[in-house]
Amino acid sequence: MAWDFSTDPEFEERLEWMRAFVREEIWPIETIESEIGQAELDRIYAPLQERVKERGLWAAHLPPDLGGQGFGQVKLGLMNEILGTSIYAPNAFGCQAPDSGNSEIIALAGTPEQKERWLHPLLAGELKSAFSMTEPETPGSDPTQLRTRAVRDGDGYVLDGHKWFTSNGSIADFLVVMAVTDPDAKPHRRASMFIVPVDTPGVNLVRDVPNMEHPGQHFGMLGGHTEILYENVRLGSDALLGEEGDGFLIAQHRLVPGRIHHCMRWLGVARRAFDMLCERSVYRPVRGGVLADKQTVQNWIADSAAQMQAARLMTLHAAWKIDTYGSSAARMDVSLIKFFGAQVLHDVVDRALQAHGGLGYSTDMPLEKLYRYARHARFVDGADEVHRESVARQILKAYEAPEDEIPTEYVPARREAALRKFASLLDPVAVDG
Ligand SMILES: Cc1cc2nc3c(=O)[nH]c(=O)nc-3n(C[C@H](O)[C@H](O)[C@H](O)COP(=O)(O)OP(=O)(O)OC[C@H]3O[C@@H](n4cnc5c(N)ncnc54)[C@H](O)[C@@H]3O)c2cc1C
Repeated sequence: MAWDFSTDPEFEERLEWMRAFVREEIWPIETIESEIGQAELDRIYAPLQERVKERGLWAAHLPPDLGGQGFGQVKLGLMNEILGTSIYAPNAFGCQAPDSGNSEIIALAGTPEQKERWLHPLLAGELKSAFSMTEPETPGSDPTQLRTRAVRDGDGYVLDGHKWFTSNGSIADFLVVMAVTDPDAKPHRRASMFIVPVDTPGVNLVRDVPNMEHPGQHFGMLGGHTEILYENVRLGSDALLGEEGDGFLIAQHRLVPGRIHHCMRWLGVARRAFDMLCERSVYRPVRGGVLADKQTVQNWIADSAAQMQAARLMTLHAAWKIDTYGSSAARMDVSLIKFFGAQVLHDVVDRALQAHGGLGYSTDMPLEKLYRYARHARFVDGADEVHRESVARQILKAYEAPEDEIPTEYVPARREAALRKFASLLDPVAVDG
């Protein structure tokens, strides 16, 4: 019987190396990030990226023929738990969203020419990319309502639309844009994906939208979320990724394993907040002892440990299911971890911040930043409500209304049936009673 929770020692060694590397080389970047520009940040990254490449851990999410490692989702999940401890870590490992997802879909659906022009330089870290789907005017939770249009024009297309929250849009060299090509097709066949160089005439970067993570101006830096107007953008036929109408199909390939990585990264964040919570608890004096002596704080620690353990096992199990049976077999598991993991992240960071009081609210600790980061997890990557709805719908497929609407477990009816079943064995008093 195969049922194994161990990590093979050779891979564990690599994870150990990653833990030390991320903590010693990447975490320090966080403290100077707001004082430096993108060019300085790129200079800091360059030698770190070389070290990651030397270790054979670069772009590990891709198959070996594309320069990745072919690790599979369980190993990638374990790696992402470490990368999640700092928002600056994935970029040092060549698996920064949205570049990682974009490289996966170009690898999957791109022509040899598209791979040559976009994928290989992207993997080499020579180009940056963004994924442009969400629109201010339509619900991101239901992208079948997208309005951005790509209309056929001779051999190519003309693209018009309004997008926002295109992460890294203002530092990208090219954008993967989701646009409607056939508004009359079935909802999930309406949209197609296009590769659009950011310097194409008509691509207008309006701003990086100020938000909870970056409340001030942040244009042209890693982690900005860009508003873009596509106005009469002329594209050649070579811009189309996959076939017309394949947009959702391709997006699905990108999203399912991507959610494993997100959830494991959230656990990395949660673990960091948890360590801060525990450390604070053992020294902060309060009336009658230290925080750790208070049952409320003990409950926070125990509940956080239980939630993180549950989320971790659920996520690794979903990863194992993808590795063993493929993405579609793991759809419900991936929805479960999406909303559960997002809530765990939120709860653990919230408790750690609470335990730090004013210090937690201040920028002298990273907790207020983690809290703002944690908040978005509950609605991106499919709002939690949408995933819950999807899980419930799938579960309910196995149920049907009982005959005459009498519940299957209704005790009086079951008792009557039991009396009939055992009638020959029961004495008359018991039966009458
Ligand atoms: C930090 C960050 C990075 C992002 N990066 C990208 C990116 O790179 N590219 C990109 O294209 N987009 C990106 N987005 C956008 C993100 O994908 C959307 O914000 C998300 O899909 C939700 O869409 P929406 O904002 O339009 O909200 P809506 O779809 O309007 O939903 C709003 C709320 O309505 C509720 N809701 C929705 N549907 C249901 C339902 N069926 N049942 C019950 N309640 C429901 C939920 O509470 C939901 O939070 C990013 C967003 C953030 C915050």
